[in-house]
Amino acid sequence: MKIDITPLFQRNGAVLPLEFTEWEDGNSDYLGVVEFVEPVKIEGTLKNENEVFVLEAKGGTEVLLWCDRCLAPVRKELCFEIKERFAHTGSENEETETFSGDQIDLADFVKRGIMEVLPMKVVCREDCKGLCPVCGKDLNKGDCDCDTTYRDPRFESLRALFNDDEEV
Ligand SMILES: [Zn+2]
Ligand SMILES: [Zn+2]
Repeated sequence: MKIDITPLFQRNGAVLPLEFTEWEDGNSDYLGVVEFVEPVKIEGTLKNENEVFVLEAKGGTEVLLWCDRCLAPVRKELCFEIKERFAHTGSENEETETFSGDQIDLADFVKRGIMEVLPMKVVCREDCKGLCPVCGKDLNKGDCDCDTTYRDPRFESLRALFNDDEEV
């Protein structure tokens, strides 16, 4: 994702439109991502503001994530924004990222943009029943015979009453 910015050099106010599509290699770099099912699309501009190169871009992609409860893959669309200011090595300040030569590599910033919008948890559907904590069966596909409910013995007699009521 290296952008040649020589057209912007020495031209204050010049704008370079950006539009590119690139595949990200998912699982190694992004925690919780199974894979990218769409390439990353970036659209935006790089502008020369007194030899500070201002990037404003929007990105989008689609990934598969693991369902937090049953571990089924879930498709998720991601939209993100990247806003960065770049300056040549030597003329940087606390507000700018540095680069050298005539190219700016956007890979790290695209990655950061994606990380910021990656949901911590996704579920395949709101009522996903998850996996049985005892036998590991996917409870969306049917119940198992494990007893996973802890019952407070003090309430057992009450519960029996209610159950009797229900059955009547
Ligand atoms: Zn699920
Ligand atoms: Zn079970």
